[in-house]
Amino acid sequence: MNERAQKVLETLLKGNEDFINGVINDSDRDLQSMQSLKDHQAPIACIVTCSDSRVVPELFFNKGFGELFVVRCAGAVIGENILESVEYAVEHLKVPLVMVLSHDDCGVMKAAKSMYPKEPDHLELLIRSVYEIIDSETECYNELARNYTLTKKRKLLKRSKILRQAYHDGKFEIVRGYLSFDTGKVTVLDNNL
Ligand SMILES: [Zn+2]
Repeated sequence: MNERAQKVLETLLKGNEDFINGVINDSDRDLQSMQSLKDHQAPIACIVTCSDSRVVPELFFNKGFGELFVVRCAGAVIGENILESVEYAVEHLKVPLVMVLSHDDCGVMKAAKSMYPKEPDHLELLIRSVYEIIDSETECYNELARNYTLTKKRKLLKRSKILRQAYHDGKFEIVRGYLSFDTGKVTVLDNNL
């Protein structure tokens, strides 16, 4: 992992540790902070995560306005709009780190686990996407959520020429994260870091 990305990852994990310990940094969360960013933004990382009201990266990474570029979709399923949003973060905002973050008790994972292998009767695109990695052996939807981050990471690179090129040029790194609601901790799932 390049030095810039490594530093950003350390900043995120340190912020998460502070959040867990109740050391809250709210200095960048006031009106003045927002106003100081009215003409520009320079986030340190892009977080690709789920549209879940309990998953609020700015809070559990202890960050404020302008620091995180958060891209959301239920289940954090990688579709075209998500791809282009991440491309924007990497190409235009020059973030050195993209974190694909999943979490405990994900509604989309639960729905996919309970419907499989039937044809989805709702949330069709989302469920079909999760079906790509599910099988009858899949026992736990939290495990499914963790495993699915790998598919998401691969899809970001496979489906976007812009991201693939930037990745091979060493302009950014992708890490996989998992949020536990019990502990508040974000665990990095990649074991080669
Ligand atoms: Zn979710």
